[in-house]
Amino acid sequence: MTEIRCCDRHEKNVQLVWTFAFPGAEYWCPYCGATSGMMGAGEYRNLTFSECREMIKYRHIGDDFLDARSTSVCSSMMWEGKRISPHDLPDHEKKRIQEVINEWVYPEDRNPPLV
Ligand SMILES: [Zn+2]
Repeated sequence: MTEIRCCDRHEKNVQLVWTFAFPGAEYWCPYCGATSGMMGAGEYRNLTFSECREMIKYRHIGDDFLDARSTSVCSSMMWEGKRISPHDLPDHEKKRIQEVINEWVYPEDRNPPLV
């Protein structure tokens, strides 16, 4: 058994992700989109090895969305070797980031849902 901090909004075991991509919340659920602060986020569940293995499919599912979100809210970032504000990104990159955010659909909301 392994104790994992999981989202408490559904039965499905999905580990909460620590991130600064959502202002005011430090934890994010890549399955349903729930965000919560570091105090009292989710619940600890004791998962078996097979439950942990089952949960791995959600680990990287929102990576592109999370990268795009993080870039859109950060104060500065590295771009082609220089530290810049996201506001100073080339227009094509801003457009790409916005498309990634707009096109993201949480697994819970997909039709058919990702199970
Ligand atoms: Zn969730």
